[in-house]
Amino acid sequence: MSHFFDTPMSVAVRLRPMNSMELECKSSTAVKRTPDGLPHVSVDFHESFAFNYVFDQRDTQKDLFEACVQTRLKRLLQGFDVTILAYGQKGCGKTYTMGTDFNGVMDDKVGLIPRAVHYLFQYISTLKKSYTFRVSCSFVKIYQEELFDLLLPRNNLSSRLAGPGLTELEVSSAQEVTDHLMRGFAKRAVGEKPSESHSILTLTLVARKLGGGGPTSETTTKLNFVDLAASGCWIFGNDADRSKGGLVALGNVLNTLAYGEIAPEYIPYGQSLLTSLLQDSLGGRSIRLLIACVSSSDANVSETMRTLRFADRTL
Ligand code: ADP
Ligand code: MG
Repeated sequence: MSHFFDTPMSVAVRLRPMNSMELECKSSTAVKRTPDGLPHVSVDFHESFAFNYVFDQRDTQKDLFEACVQTRLKRLLQGFDVTILAYGQKGCGKTYTMGTDFNGVMDDKVGLIPRAVHYLFQYISTLKKSYTFRVSCSFVKIYQEELFDLLLPRNNLSSRLAGPGLTELEVSSAQEVTDHLMRGFAKRAVGEKPSESHSILTLTLVARKLGGGGPTSETTTKLNFVDLAASGCWIFGNDADRSKGGLVALGNVLNTLAYGEIAPEYIPYGQSLLTSLLQDSLGGRSIRLLIACVSSSDANVSETMRTLRFADRTL
């Protein structure tokens, strides 16, 4: 297991249970975890893929958190940015997996963000003898290549940003973060289809090492949760849909990073707002986890194949 954490980029595939539409049309399961226990996915009449993790309908939110997120959070204290992205077709579980739609109740269904935030605050509280911490939170939406601040206190609407000045709120507990998350998520939906926007919740952690008498060092790292716009359909749709452009650009950046040692100026961060915003947390000292959310039904095979290929190219 340990070698997974030494690679900066990992992919987890999550197969969601059949939804009512798939059950109604009696579709069958075409996408499966291979029975050998390896993190491989096979797609009937197509190919198989190897990833770092595969979760299926039997795996819980807790399973996913514990298997691939929990340990990565500790990397923040080692000076790494950590970026977790949910990618996939509409309705395949991106928001559910991320927990962007948290309703305030910490039950079994809670997704990654609230779990991670609780874990992180708990973890840093155990380190208080050797560090002081400052944590701040921002939450934005990108729609059609425009950035919206979801944490502005002023009104109910998310506001388009003119230049810098993104709201960064100091937070001192997990509950404060999830309060901001809930407030911001309500604004994500205002104005247009939420599935066509990306949302990014970022925690910035400033850790100052205490004591020793010598100069104290401060490390700033970021933890990003990216609930991406829905993939798919756009291949047949309107090329001008620039939210999808963010996904294409993200794919280009991740593919380029997958080649290994490449000078930052050759990595095409500038192709979209999403990739420029995440630039520091995708390259450099960063740990990245892409969660590819897919349907297991034969009714969605072509879209699932596109998602798996996208994920495969990032490794
Ligand atoms: P997306 O954000 O990718 O469009 P959602 O996360 O909104 O999709 O998921 C669509 C629906 O499927 C939601 O009602 C969600 O609760 C449900 N769902 C998705 N993944 C799972 C899962 N692994 N287990 C149970 N329900 C799920
Ligand atoms: Mg969603």
